[in-house]
Amino acid sequence: MIRFEDVTKVYDATSRPALDGIDLEVDHGDFAFLVGPSGSGKSTFLRLVLREERATTGEVYVAGKNVARVPSWRVPRLRRGIGVVFQDFRLLPNKDVFGNVAFAMQVIGKSRHMIRETVPEVLKLVGLEGKERRMPHELSGGEQQRVAIARAIVNKPGILLADEPTGNLDPATSVGIMNILDRINQNGTTVVMATHDDDIVNSMKRRVIELSAGRVVRDETGGEYTAMI
Ligand code: ADP
Ligand code: ADP
Repeated sequence: MIRFEDVTKVYDATSRPALDGIDLEVDHGDFAFLVGPSGSGKSTFLRLVLREERATTGEVYVAGKNVARVPSWRVPRLRRGIGVVFQDFRLLPNKDVFGNVAFAMQVIGKSRHMIRETVPEVLKLVGLEGKERRMPHELSGGEQQRVAIARAIVNKPGILLADEPTGNLDPATSVGIMNILDRINQNGTTVVMATHDDDIVNSMKRRVIELSAGRVVRDETGGEYTAMI
């Protein structure tokens, strides 16, 4: 689903590479945590998958496509296959819950009929049924993140990228968010989640890819946040 072949990303020729010779494969249906200290390259990895940045050398494949060879007019279509969730939710403040999720369908031209049918299903999946008319500021942080997840998956992407999705949430709320991400993964979506949340990583027992200074220093199935010595 995602393949990095000897990928190096240099932003600034005077500093060390943000990613340095990454060889990595995330299969269809995987759930992988991306861990490592701030500056280790996690966000750069996610940005390369989204083609928000290009590799300096090496190849990035997403769903079988070499992303460097996707012409720029087709990048939006590439990104349509990838849902993204952020630490700070990034909801549209002037649209209600329904409207935030519906918007993701409207921008790709889905019919009103499809939107009316699909949005309630997705809101149910994230546990927000009955909250369609709430505005973002009327929601708790956990509820706002559920809206963001609903928006990210409403067009059924094959991949969900999450960049510190529990970073602004308390531990109990974070567990609820992880249960939703787990369910989405069990429905067949590949999930890659960058995180500093050691309790979450340790409780989920999923693949752990650890970056340090732009290199993969550990890649374990059923791993913990910190390497077991
Ligand atoms: P993480 O997400 O693990 O904190 P990043 O991918 O953001 O790591 O950063 C990796 C390295 O690349 C850091 O040294 C950071 O300073 C550098 N970096 C990230 N983005 C940029 C950018 N847009 N321009 C220059 N350097 C950057
Ligand atoms: P608009 O772009 O007109 O502001 P929204 O983004 O709020 O509309 O909603 C998109 C679509 O979903 C429209 O067809 C709208 O009528 C419908 N819709 C919006 N909110 C609800 C709701 N709570 N229940 C059912 N349908 C809704």
